[in-house]
Parts: sequence; structure tokens; C-alpha cells
Amino acid sequence: MAEQLWRYGAEKLHEMVLSREVSCREVVESHLDRIREVEPLLNALITICYREAVAQADAQDKRLAKGEPVGPLAGVPISIKDIISTKGIRTTCGSRMLAEYIPPYDATAVRKIKEADGIIIGKGNVDEFAMGSSTETSHFGPCLNPWDHSAVPGGSSGGSSASLVAGECALALAEDTGGSIRQPAAFCGCVGLKPTYGRVSRYGNIAYASSFDQIGPMARSTFETARLFEIIAGRDPFDSTSADKPVEKWTEACGRDVKGLRVAILKEYVSEDLPPEIKAGINKTVDILQKAGVEISTVSVPTASYGVPIYYVITMSEASSNLARYDSILYGHKTDANELISLFTRCRAEGFGKVVRERILIGTYALSAGFFDAWYLKATKARRLVSNEFAQAFRSCDAILAPVAPCKAFKVGEKTDDPLAMYLTDVYSTIANVVGIPGLAFPVDFHEGLPVSVQLMAQPFNETVLFQLGSMIEQEVDIPRLWDSAE
Ligand code: GLN
Repeated sequence: MAEQLWRYGAEKLHEMVLSREVSCREVVESHLDRIREVEPLLNALITICYREAVAQADAQDKRLAKGEPVGPLAGVPISIKDIISTKGIRTTCGSRMLAEYIPPYDATAVRKIKEADGIIIGKGNVDEFAMGSSTETSHFGPCLNPWDHSAVPGGSSGGSSASLVAGECALALAEDTGGSIRQPAAFCGCVGLKPTYGRVSRYGNIAYASSFDQIGPMARSTFETARLFEIIAGRDPFDSTSADKPVEKWTEACGRDVKGLRVAILKEYVSEDLPPEIKAGINKTVDILQKAGVEISTVSVPTASYGVPIYYVITMSEASSNLARYDSILYGHKTDANELISLFTRCRAEGFGKVVRERILIGTYALSAGFFDAWYLKATKARRLVSNEFAQAFRSCDAILAPVAPCKAFKVGEKTDDPLAMYLTDVYSTIANVVGIPGLAFPVDFHEGLPVSVQLMAQPFNETVLFQLGSMIEQEVDIPRLWDSAE
């Protein structure tokens, strides 16, 4: 049985090591074997932590043998998106710029995972600096969708969702600036939560757009997503934007009665233009909710259609500022030149890929004198308007239902030559980041070999209702799970 341990979810593995039915070492070996088998096809992990994971497992086995207490993630292999700092483990952001960077400290979320005895097994492949929707712009090569190797896994956290679904790990820690947790979770068929802005410390998350970036959990079930969320959430003195809100028992919200809750379908996002299989996913979700006694309505948020332009103007502006630090002197790719300007130019031309360079240029333009008011300032005002409209919308409902993306996983190479087409895959996911609200994505259907998912959004700090609804829906859908069905 030992060689099949990678098929089990995080909770089951944890129970099995606690009862000493299997050792942490066996669990880790099983995942490492699986990595050796599927990684040549998927390229989901930029760095694989063979030695560290085995050492961690052995240390936990010793403690278990002595009857010492272990944390809630003991025996659970986890992948960390390669934009989140891990002490002593290379953290590349999928870029040549940081290809050699080994952080001297852990991100707060990683520190908490280690304190909970999670076993870091690898670093998830990512679009360069988390800018992308397909994990095709990684300097370390594209990652593929485990269901269909001709399709993308989504992005930018494609390595996280692919590694999780393919059985290389049992949990994944990722980051969502404009859909990067939810969209890859949707394309690969797992659960992903973008928490409320401020719920999880961003300390150690290498910045893309600081007023949007949010670390969050991915897992194979809603309950396991809630478990990881409980571990990583909370105020952190190292991140002044982290919220001083109590960490709730989100695992206890899973399975709680949903009768009487109110869910509204977001009119602007659920239109006739949706592909039939995505629309069918929404309809199926509505049926399940109705049968469970949830009140369904439709809500209109007219400015929600401006999510993508607002998102891209502001995130590119923030990125142009955040990425200014890579200059070959203190940070980034080391290169040579005989004077300072050439050094900067060379470092940035050699270190950054095309998409990142484009975004820095556009963001610099949007912030420059003469254009600032027309672009950046206008976008921030529009952001406020959308947020107000959402606050208004939540007066009549507890959660809002929408698609995660306007499509299932698309083909590798299909959108790489058309940045606009790529941006438009984020048309339904960026809004939660623009407004700062939580969004939970999970699969509800399966169509021509690929998962179909939906997302629920809630008011700031009401992740509870998302777990309540998500866990109920999950019980009612019967769809293939790759960790069960894979050869
Ligand atoms: N697709 C979005 C972008 O390219 C998502 C990024 C993210 O959430 N990290 O900006």
C-alpha cells in the first residue's frame, strides 16, 4: 500500500501518521516517487526538496515514536509557490532575475506551516513574478495540466495546482494577485481560496502588486483548504497591512447547515456569452444550493465589468515600482558593465522576460507625469466605486456566485502571442482582488476531460460562509478526481 500514499488527502495522511499506521518517511517517499514519475511530464516544481523533506519526516517519526506531540500538519507534504520565501531553499519567482536567490528567512505563512509540522516537498512553478494566467512564462519552462498535457494548468500558480492534483503533494501554499490561486485551482480541479486582503501576512511574499497580493491555501477538499487557512491566517507585526482579526475555526464551518443563507448570481458575469459548459456549471451549483434551502437571487454590480482594466492599470503601476529594486547591486541577476546605467539596463534586460518587461513599461507610463491622472488615479477612483457597489450588493446576500474564468483550461500556446486574450481569461477573477474580498473556487463539473469550476465571493472577513457553502456543494457533486483515477 505504501506506494499509493500520494493518493490520500492531507487529513487522512495526518491521521495515519498519528495512529502510526504509516510513518512520515513512508508518506514522503511515496510523494517523492510520484514526483520522479510525473515531474518529467508536468514540470510543476522548480525545486524539489528531496533531502529536506526526508530529514523533516524522520525528525517527526522520532518524535512520534517517543510519544511527543506533533503539529496539525505532521506527515503532510506541501508545495510552496516559488514566489513565497523559504529559508535556505531557492526562491526564483520563475525568473532568471532570481534564479540563484536563496532567502535568508521564511515568509510568515511558511514559518507557520513549519511550526505546524508541514513538510515542504518542493517549490511550485509559476509565471514569471506571478504575472500570467497559464504558467507558460516561467524561466524554468511551462507547467502542464495533469488532466491533459496539451492544456495549461492555469496561472500564475499552475505549479501549485498541478502538483497538488497530480499527487506530488497533499496541500499547496499559493498567492493570488488577480486570480492566481482560484484560476489554476479551477483549471486543475482542486479547491483554492483567495482570502480577504489582510487575512494572511504578506511578509516574505515577493511583491508583484502589494495592494492586491494575498497568500492563500489550495487543497483537494474544502475542509483541507480550511485547515491550511487556519494555520496561515492572522495578524503579523511584520506586515502592517495584515488585519487584526481573530483566526476562526474555519474547519468547523465546513458541513454547517446552509439553510436560509442567501446566494446571489452576479448578473454581469453570468451572461449568455459564457460557454455552455461554464454556464452549466453555474446552473448545477444553483440547483444544489436551492435543494439545500439556500435562497437564490440575482444581483447587479454594473462596475464589475471594469475589473480587468482597473486591475491591470493599478497592478502594472505597482509592479513597476516593486520591481525597481532588481538592479544587480543589492537584488537580482548579477551582471557586469563599466558604468551604472549600463549595469541597470543589462541586469534588467537579461534578468526579466518579455511579459514582465512589458508590464514594467506600461506601469511606468501610467505613473508618469502627465499620464498619472488619466490612468493610475482614475483606476484607483474606479476601484473605490466598484468596492462601494459590492458593499451595496452584499446587503441583499451572503455570497455572490460567478464563474472563475470564461473557459476551461485552454491549450498550451493558444494565448501566448495575444496578451489581451490572456488578460481576458482573468475577467471574472480579478474583481475579488480589486475589492479585497474573499473568493473560493472549487470544481462542480467535468466536461470533455477537464474540470469545470465556479467561485463564491463574500464580504470582507466572511470566509466562513464560503466554507459553509463550498463544503456542502462539494458533497453533492460527483466528479472524477485525478488522485483517485490517475494510473
Ligand atoms: N493573471 C493575473 C496576472 O497576470 C494573475 C496574477 C496573480 O494573481 N498573481 O496578473
